[in-house]
Amino acid sequence: MKKRNAVLILGIVSIIILITVQVIILRGVYQGKSEMFNLRYRLYSQDALTAISRRFSTDGFDTARMMINNYSEKASREIAAMTDTAKLSAKRKDVIFFVNKVLNQEQDLSQFLSDYFERRRIDKNFNHKIVVNYFELINNDHRIPIFISEEYATRLPGRRDTVQRGGPQGGFRPLRHVSEILVKSDRSETNYYRLDFDYFIDFRDKQKVVMRETAASLFLSTLSIIVVVILFLITYKNLMEEKRLSNLKTDFINNMTHELKTPLSTITVAGKTLLLPQIRGNDGKIVETARMISKQSVHLNQLINMILEISMWERTQFQIDKKKVKIEDFLRDIVESFRSGGGNGATITQNYNFTNPEIELDAVYITTLINNLLSNAVKYCDKEPVISIEGFSQDNNIHIRVADNGIGIGKNDQKHVFDKFYRASTGNIHKYKGLGLGLYYVKKIAEAHGGDVTVSSKPGKGSIFTVTIPY
Ligand code: ADP
Repeated sequence: MKKRNAVLILGIVSIIILITVQVIILRGVYQGKSEMFNLRYRLYSQDALTAISRRFSTDGFDTARMMINNYSEKASREIAAMTDTAKLSAKRKDVIFFVNKVLNQEQDLSQFLSDYFERRRIDKNFNHKIVVNYFELINNDHRIPIFISEEYATRLPGRRDTVQRGGPQGGFRPLRHVSEILVKSDRSETNYYRLDFDYFIDFRDKQKVVMRETAASLFLSTLSIIVVVILFLITYKNLMEEKRLSNLKTDFINNMTHELKTPLSTITVAGKTLLLPQIRGNDGKIVETARMISKQSVHLNQLINMILEISMWERTQFQIDKKKVKIEDFLRDIVESFRSGGGNGATITQNYNFTNPEIELDAVYITTLINNLLSNAVKYCDKEPVISIEGFSQDNNIHIRVADNGIGIGKNDQKHVFDKFYRASTGNIHKYKGLGLGLYYVKKIAEAHGGDVTVSSKPGKGSIFTVTIPY
């Protein structure tokens, strides 16, 4: 039990580690693909920029720069004349708002890029973003810093306090986003302003494209995890099965010792009895004891033969010798000899309805099969046994059904009763003697005839065994 838990825990931990490692690797692959995507589009954009400036002699920001210049001329004068700090701060915000709006609305670069990408038949579904890093107004060579982004500020430590800082209040994001592609960093200066901004593009379908490129790795990785999990489950199941078989074998050896010891000790006692002087003159007692010895020897012999036979089946194919028999007469004979043998005291009813009176089967084996079912019906019964045997033909098969009013078999045990050495645990294992071979034998014989055996049962309500044999 402890070993089983250790194996289970170890297996689960290894699978969790495997999944974690796969996730880390996949994340790396995704990031790599994502960076490759950015690099590719950065190169396309650079290409596009060169082509655009060659063709149109502009970078797409000429109109914006002109408007900012005109606006700055006026604004720089106004700001230079202001003394009220509150008003100054409001004006600064207005200025940067205007610069930002003009840059976004009056630029033609996005259109140029989109056309260029379309011509190249590559993805053109992108959003642009312009991030102003620095803006200052110039009034007669006097520089008035208006805005500086956080990132830019760290590059220019001396200018921090004097200017409007980036961040939420400035309306600009200070840090570049990793998924965005920097296409152009621009710096321009006239008599009235100095501007430093970055132009980014961001592809709407990027995630989809990268996911598609990662799909193969994702698929293989998931597959490898599934294979490992399946392998683990199979190994674990085999381990459990081995453990179960080893327990069954141990039980079998205990049961077999017990089974063999009973007739053997009877024979030993009977032998000693025969040696007693007071027995010698009593013919009746001698005959009775000799009979007992003979009966127990036969039983012992049967037990040993059964074990030998089963171990022989393991090595060679099950050999059956089929002969035509009149099925109803055949079954009635078996039941009658059972009644006069081990079946003493049991009420047995028979009901046959075979449409084919004859069938080919191995009479010796089928007799053993029926006897095993009948003796189990008597053995696993804690009251007066009532057994009913039914036989009928259906769908090219004959069905033989043995129903009893015995202790029944639990759902879990039903799955295993036909296994070799299996004995349903009834608490007291020696209450019902046996080796766990009877039903195994039944199944083997039925299968050797091309048929099968099934059980349906409820604990306390009796059991029904149905043997099917094709004809
Ligand atoms: P054995 O009788 O030697 O134990 P079997 O292979 O004949 O071995 O039966 C396997 C197990 O199935 C038995 O241990 C018993 O628990 C259960 N079993 C078989 N037949 C019956 C029955 N008619 N009623 C209840 N339990 C049964």
